[in-house]
Amino acid sequence: MLTMEDIIRDGHPSLRKVAAEVSMPPSEEDKQILSSLLEYVINSQNPEISAQYSLRPGIGLAAPQINVLKRMIAVHLTDESGTLYSYALFNPKIISHSVEKAYLQAGEGCLSVDKAIPGYVPRHARITLKGTTIDGEEVKLRLKGLASICFQHEIDHLNGIMFYDYINHEDPLRPIDGAIAIER
Ligand code: ZN
Repeated sequence: MLTMEDIIRDGHPSLRKVAAEVSMPPSEEDKQILSSLLEYVINSQNPEISAQYSLRPGIGLAAPQINVLKRMIAVHLTDESGTLYSYALFNPKIISHSVEKAYLQAGEGCLSVDKAIPGYVPRHARITLKGTTIDGEEVKLRLKGLASICFQHEIDHLNGIMFYDYINHEDPLRPIDGAIAIER
């Protein structure tokens, strides 16, 4: 199982690289890596397991964060309306998005960033994405709210983008015109 020791931190060059597509059908090794990402996120939300292994709680993890430069992400979260989103995907791709923006009122965090970086992170309010599950099933997801934000954060890791890249560093909490504020 993955622990925080497997997660590379801000400043590591791999976090700024573009990850490669995973060839389909996936190898057993790639399936194993992808399921370990989801397992970490689920374990990290379990109070006993996270205490036992000193896991920092997270809602998403991308393969580059364990220094694997391949397009794989895992998300496990319950959104603001109580819906569970639990996905491990190969080659996730945003195929369309709203013009309208949204941001988390509390800002974003990242398992690869040890300190809190306050500030609003403007993102697309709604996205449609495609990807392939561990079982090789192609899925198409329409997402809004926290789930939309989390998937965008994880997909950015596949392109070497960090959440704080979007923060207005002169005025981190300046209201974002016309954007939806999401409370968690
Ligand atoms: Zn992150």
